[in-house]
Amino acid sequence: MKKSLSQPLLGAHLSIAGGFEQAIYAARNLGCTAVQFFSKSNRQWHAPAITDEQLARYHEALRVAPLGYVAIHASYLINIASGDETQRTKARNALITEYQRAVTLDVDALIVHPGSYGTGTIQASLAHVAQELNLVFQETPAGNPKLLLETMAGQGTNTCFTFEQLATILNAVAPTSPIGVCLDTCHVYAAGYDLKNNYNGVITLFNSIIGLNNLYAIHLNDSKKGLGTRVDRHEHIGEGQLGLATFAALMNDPRLAHLPKILETPKDTADDDARNLKTIRDLLD
Ligand SMILES: [Zn+2]
Ligand SMILES: [Zn+2]
Repeated sequence: MKKSLSQPLLGAHLSIAGGFEQAIYAARNLGCTAVQFFSKSNRQWHAPAITDEQLARYHEALRVAPLGYVAIHASYLINIASGDETQRTKARNALITEYQRAVTLDVDALIVHPGSYGTGTIQASLAHVAQELNLVFQETPAGNPKLLLETMAGQGTNTCFTFEQLATILNAVAPTSPIGVCLDTCHVYAAGYDLKNNYNGVITLFNSIIGLNNLYAIHLNDSKKGLGTRVDRHEHIGEGQLGLATFAALMNDPRLAHLPKILETPKDTADDDARNLKTIRDLLD
């Protein structure tokens, strides 16, 4: 069972190679209180059924790990924003499967990239996302986990790189399960929100357009690329364009203190996660 913890919820995206329990044990070894993983290969549609034995090993791991928050990141292939109905139907079915797996694994949230508008328009993509999410809600059990749309960098034809675009979707859905937003620090900066020089202004703007009450998780990533480049390249904490001061402000922001914060920083060497986690923990006042 996930635990009720007094410490901040802090963790990393970890691999399930060898079983779901491997992500949980790796999180424990890193001293994490939160974890995120893909519930299946993120670059394949195939989703093998979760067996009782796999589930038992996963629950045993959760029993001994001090985790207060578990999230699944949905496959990158899913594009419910597509103007192509066949592609959208395939994406919706895959998202329903992801949600069912999230229910089976009893996680707190399923985090989803809204997708790409391709040859269509941004406006149409927002209507497609809302419509597909409503269909997903109709096909899945009401209650938990939360479905979180991620703030995107706006690379290529990715949609949902402005707060207004995400707000449009939140206002258009009729959720039967809680829905909200996961803010990715690299993405919002690359999208043009200056977290580095105007941290408070960006969070205040997020609150006025989306509402901090709709913010449920944060992806902690520094950015290799500059403000407004709309290029999505994660960097180690403090080694990118955002820099340590930005993360110090975020980690000590009382408005965000209760939110799970998850690293998706590069894994160039085996100790990168431990190093980035230490960097982040050292910023806490
Ligand atoms: Zn993501
Ligand atoms: Zn990213």
